Amino acid sequence: MSFSIKANLNKTRSSIPKHVSLVAVSKTKPIEDIQKAFDAGQRIFGENKVQELREKQPNLPNDIEWHMIGHMQSNKVKYIAPFISLIHGVESFKLIKEINKQGLKNNRVIRILLQFHIADESTKFGFKIEEVLEILNSNEFKTLKNIEVQGVMGMASFVSDHEKIRKEFSNLQAIYEQLKNSFFANQETFNILSMGMSGDYKIAINEGSTMIRLGSSIFGARY
Ligand SMILES: *Cc1c(COP(=O)(O)O)cnc(C)c1O
Repeated sequence: MSFSIKANLNKTRSSIPKHVSLVAVSKTKPIEDIQKAFDAGQRIFGENKVQELREKQPNLPNDIEWHMIGHMQSNKVKYIAPFISLIHGVESFKLIKEINKQGLKNNRVIRILLQFHIADESTKFGFKIEEVLEILNSNEFKTLKNIEVQGVMGMASFVSDHEKIRKEFSNLQAIYEQLKNSFFANQETFNILSMGMSGDYKIAINEGSTMIRLGSSIFGARY
């Protein structure tokens, strides 16, 4: 079988609308594969482990936008704070505060997405809307100048039931709209709805996704 990262990328790009950005999820894949995708024009890459990001980032071109898409421990933020472009999986106030602290140390504003729990599996991380409203309305949140919340992220259940997945994405889209029209009404950069993976991104786009995260459909299966 002739497997081509470039062909996969081109095929995906031609099938998604212009307003949807593509994060190429390169976790577990070697530097050479990422370089191939880069040479084919891809600039946004997603990883889910801090250690892997730290190993890959210095060995690849500087104009890559690295996204952290996995669950993060607060004590590891410092390792990626100097270069990370967007952190998708933010799901505690403690983590928000630590990212702000490391943003301050590095003299930059770090872009983050709030992860919401939309699947019914207990293994998936994420906020409930009430928790987020409480954080956003707190005085402490207002003092955080080195983070910028630019949207929300979520993962649907791993099921074959399309209607169930669609409903979960639709719920996340409603949360996104609610925040966009209230708390972030005056912030144009709150414009990212990160949802959709290789198996469900078409449903996600139909439900309003503006950023999809694709791994296996671009780089092949992970072993
Ligand atoms: C691994 C991963 C993806 C990509 O998954 P694929 O099914 O390979 O497309 C997307 N989002 C997150 C959070 C992931 O951990």
